[in-house]
This record gives sequence, C-alpha cells and structure tokens, in this order.
Amino acid sequence: MSEDPIDLPALILKRGEDARLRAGHLWVFSNEVDVRRTPLASFAPGEPCAILDAQEKPIGLGYVNPNSLICARLVSRGLKHTFDRSLIVHRLNVALALREKLYAEPYYRLVFGESDGLPGLTVDRFGDVLVAQTTTAGMERMKEAIAEALVKVLKPAAIVWKNDAGVRDLEHLPAYADIGYGELAAPVTVREAGLEFVVDPIGGQKTGWFYDQRGNRDLLAPYVTGRRVLDVFSYLGGWGLRAAAAGATEAVCVDVSAAAVERIAANAQHNGLADRVRAVKADAFEELRRLREQRERFDVVIVDPPAFIKRRKDFAEGRLAYRRINELAMQVLARDGILVTCSCSHHLPRAALLEAVQQGARHLDRQVQALVQLQQGPDHPVHPAIPETEYLKGYICRVLPA
Ligand code: SAH
Repeated sequence: MSEDPIDLPALILKRGEDARLRAGHLWVFSNEVDVRRTPLASFAPGEPCAILDAQEKPIGLGYVNPNSLICARLVSRGLKHTFDRSLIVHRLNVALALREKLYAEPYYRLVFGESDGLPGLTVDRFGDVLVAQTTTAGMERMKEAIAEALVKVLKPAAIVWKNDAGVRDLEHLPAYADIGYGELAAPVTVREAGLEFVVDPIGGQKTGWFYDQRGNRDLLAPYVTGRRVLDVFSYLGGWGLRAAAAGATEAVCVDVSAAAVERIAANAQHNGLADRVRAVKADAFEELRRLREQRERFDVVIVDPPAFIKRRKDFAEGRLAYRRINELAMQVLARDGILVTCSCSHHLPRAALLEAVQQGARHLDRQVQALVQLQQGPDHPVHPAIPETEYLKGYICRVLPA
C-alpha cells in the first residue's frame, strides 16, 4: 500500500466508531478512541496523528488534544499528506478561489474552520490585514506554518492573532490578541456596499467585524427608504449605517459596549451619515422598555443579538430571551412595521426563532408575515456532516395589527 501510516503516532478508534468520520464528519470524541491500544495520555496537546479504524485501516491525518471532549480532528483523508505549510497553502487557495468569485473587494471570511478543511482555524480578511483565530491546540501548534502560508498566498501587510474566543477554554488554551506578522500601519477598515467602517482587530469583538450578516444587510434597502430604523445590538452599526445609506430618515443604534458605540459616531461621520445616525450605549432590553414607555415608534427594528444559547443546557432560558427581545422590539414598531430578527445560536433551530417571534406577536395581538429567510453568507459555508457549522438564521418579518 502506498499510504504508510507509520510516520505518525496512531490513534485507533473502537469498532464502529469510524462510521461518522467516513460519513464526512471531522471530529473524534474521546469515548470513541480505543484507549487500551492508543492511550490519549500518550499524546501532547495538538500533536498530529494517523487516525485508524479498529482494523487499523487508515481514515486520515488528524491532530489530538487529550484534554478535550473532541479529542481529535481530521485534517486530511488518507495519509498521503503531512499537516504542514503546503497543505495549509493548498486549503487557503481552495478557500480563496470561492471568495474571489463571490466578492469584488478583499473583505470577507477567508477560512471558516471545518467547512474549509482547516478545523479550528478562522481567518477574516480586511484588505491587506488578516485576522486569524485558532480554537484548538492542534491549530495553535501550527501558528507559524499558518502565518507562513497566509504570507505566501496573500502577501498581507499584517496578521493579527485574535485568540480570545471562549471556546479556547475547552482546549485549555490561553486568551490573547496580538500581531503575529507585519504591522498595523493605518487604521484597519472594512468596506461593505460602498461604506467604510473602521474596525479594531485587537480590541474589538470576534475578529472585528461580522461578515456573516453582510448578505442579509444587503436585503434591507427596500424596507428602509424614508423610514425610521432602530438597530438593536448594533455593534459598529453595520445594519444602521447600511439603512441610513439606503435612505432611512433616521437610524438609532443601540449597543451595551461603550467602545462599539464610540466608533458608530465616527463611522457615521466618515461616511457622511452623521446627521441621520444616532448611537446609544445601553442594555438592549432596558432601552427597548424605555423607548416603549416613551411611546417611540420605528418603522423597522433590527434585532441581532449575541448568542443567547451558547450551550445546549441554556436552551430553555435562551429561547425565552429570544421571545422577550422580539416582543419588546414589536412594542416599538409602527403599525405596519418590519422586524428583522436574527439568532446566531446553533442550538436554536430556525423554526424555534420564528416560533419565538410568533409567540411574542400573539401576546401583543399582532400578526406576523415572514417575508425573507436570512442565513450566514457563503463565505461561511455549511459543512453538511457538521451541524454546528450552520448557526446563523433570521427573518425579515412584516408585523401587522391582528
Ligand atoms: N449587529 C451587529 C452584530 C451584533 S453582535 C452587526 O451586524 O455587525 C452582538 C452585539 O450585542 C455586540 O456588539 C455586543 O456588544 C452587544 N450586546 C451584548 N449584550 C447586549 C445587551 N444586553 N444590550 C445591548 N447590546 C448587547
């Protein structure tokens, strides 16, 4: 056989536990490993391995983290390739080919982890600045090779490691954000639909920008011309500024982060929209209650909260939060208004989001028409075997009196 698994330490699965991997998944859970033959403790966090089935037939190349429930991830099927810079370069080129077809300008998610064949790695592109994030020990260990591969494929001015995601805890990785290559000579900007936003790749949220909503923001224009818009959980005002640029008479952005709210005003100014954009630093629930009490009305309300359900066990509480926030949003909507509602919780099914909206509407004696379904953009491809890769869902709804 030309494929020779002996160079790498083997991780042998129990009988039958190869089925999910063979069906396309990339994860191995710790209870699926035959630890009598290949003890997990013999691996260093992040160490590459050959993943073999119980008959010792190779499945592919992966990496191990003995400390994590997901104890290994498959990087390549078969054992022809090693996990090195050239494999990463290949994956980056495949990922880039898609994004270059989709977008006229270099602003997008370049790598979406498992879905782009690089489990545990995210890379967002802001022109010549790349913001990368590793979420596994196996990818953390490859940082240097990743940076070299990014330089080879994209010749960036800088690479930022934004390694402060909460999921890193599961892999016992520390949280930090720093510059891994080059320097940030100028403010980092993102261009979206003719607007320019200054982002903060080191101190900002996630990688600095929410590219996953871009295609959804593109759908907003027909509803906002000549209208008053409220952008709740606005971050840097992506939805609000897009609304103002599309002809909204006023866009009010609400976010609890002072740093985000400060940047909204600057970004509005920068795009010549300062006279129509207002930013409020407040808790969304409190601010909506305050607006309701003051009998403020908006023609369009956008609700784009952080994930209320981070873990499955938070489901019941999280679902209630989605219902509450959407009900509050409908209470400040004009008579024939538009509610844009979103959830980035993988654990909240699409149907449950619409149900939360519907329950809120019935409680207020309103009638909802779901007009458009929203989803993560195509630079966040869904891996059909890995449900967790599909997380963003939403609706543009018309809300009428009953
Ligand atoms: N709508 C944004 C993305 C929102 S991310 C966009 O399209 O780019 C979620 C935002 O909610 C973050 O900016 C976070 O600061 C904010 N946030 C979290 N909890 C909040 C709360 N209780 N009230 C208001 N904002 C909150």
